[in-house]
Amino acid sequence: MKILVAIKPVPNPDERVRISADGLRLVLDGVKTIVNPFCEIAVEEALRIRERLGTSEVVVVTVGPLAADAQLRTALAMGADRGVLVRLEGAADALVIAGLLRKVVEEESPVLVLLGKQAVDDDNNQVGQTLAALLSWPQATFASRIEFLDDGKRIRVDRETDAGIETVELPLPAVVTADLRLNEPRYASLPGIMKARQKEVRVVDAATLGIDLTPKVRVLSFEAPRARKGGRIVADAAELVRLLREEARVIG
Ligand SMILES: Cc1cc2nc3c(=O)[nH]c(=O)nc-3n(C[C@H](O)[C@H](O)[C@H](O)COP(=O)(O)OP(=O)(O)OC[C@H]3O[C@@H](n4cnc5c(N)ncnc54)[C@H](O)[C@@H]3O)c2cc1C
Repeated sequence: MKILVAIKPVPNPDERVRISADGLRLVLDGVKTIVNPFCEIAVEEALRIRERLGTSEVVVVTVGPLAADAQLRTALAMGADRGVLVRLEGAADALVIAGLLRKVVEEESPVLVLLGKQAVDDDNNQVGQTLAALLSWPQATFASRIEFLDDGKRIRVDRETDAGIETVELPLPAVVTADLRLNEPRYASLPGIMKARQKEVRVVDAATLGIDLTPKVRVLSFEAPRARKGGRIVADAAELVRLLREEARVIG
């Protein structure tokens, strides 16, 4: 049983990202890149499934520049078995990423594809769903629990919705995206980091996979959020309610 986990390199959210003078792109020069936190949760879940069921291979895949090897090594240091780097320089939208991931899925034939529910940079919430649609596979998004049933032929997934927890059952193969409460990712151990250096990472050039790499989504402009104003201490709850009603006008 093989599990494929898609991981996205994202700018470290603790660092300051600037907008270019023409407002059309983010200036990421010198900004450290990390594994998208929801993808780390997806990797952790794949490792736990392998530990529980014994037989799984965990393969991690990323689409990005050669430097994204560092994010693959992070996942390999956590315990993933091997990596695939689909080399793509420049911008891509969810459809391009999902199309490239589909090619890797078709080649690797995993029983389960795990992704993060969102990437903390773009916030589109599309790659997992688009991939499932392209593969015509069942999907469960925002997973907070995954249980294997029938000797690994089906899974039961608790998924977080605005109304509470919804439980669904899916036949495998399937696509599942990880939510925050699915698990708490482990730290890579020093031996794990050493071992990761030797693990296989196969590099595939995106241009060889027969996908139209032209993004269909065009960014018209970026805008920085308004600077936050300083806080204000209020005397009591009654004053807070009055200010929310009369000054902020956020309650009726
Ligand atoms: C019900 C609901 C409630 C919401 N509530 C809130 C809220 O309260 N606050 C808020 O701020 N937002 C909220 N949102 C917005 C939502 O969280 C985000 O818009 C969305 O989840 C972000 O998705 P994304 O496009 O960044 O993910 P995607 O870009 O689709 O990424 C998802 C996953 O795809 C894979 N992937 C993506 N790119 C690559 C790559 N290059 N290589 C390999 N793998 C890749 C990774 O596994 C990644 O984790 C809500 C959305 C919904 C549906």
